[in-house]
Amino acid sequence: MKNKIIAFDLDNTLCQPIKSNHENKLVPKQLLKLQPYKKHIKVLCDMKKEGNKIIIFTSRYGPDEIKDATRKWLKKHRVPYDEIIWNKPSYDMLIDDKAISAYQGGLSSTLINTFIDFNENKIAKEKAKQ
Ligand SMILES: [Mg+2]
Repeated sequence: MKNKIIAFDLDNTLCQPIKSNHENKLVPKQLLKLQPYKKHIKVLCDMKKEGNKIIIFTSRYGPDEIKDATRKWLKKHRVPYDEIIWNKPSYDMLIDDKAISAYQGGLSSTLINTFIDFNENKIAKEKAKQ
């Protein structure tokens, strides 16, 4: 599979979750210290190597220092990406027809490929009915 657009969440998907402080503000120094989730980063790298476009999708809001620290962290941990989208909404649950949980079932490149194949077959069948 290639030429797909695959969006990865950042916090608690590619790195440990951010501990919020009493002001609920992001601190660039703290962002740089977040531990990477290496298994998930490997999945991202596999998808990139296969020729897919990788988008990092994050709800990190704040000044340019936050964006700079985020880009530095991604570089430090060798996370390849094509684009970062900063305006992900904050939510407690995401309901989406194209979402894969980073945890339920264990995220893997195989799972992502299977999921995309399944969705493409489903769409093709629906088009054939029309
Ligand atoms: Mg997250």
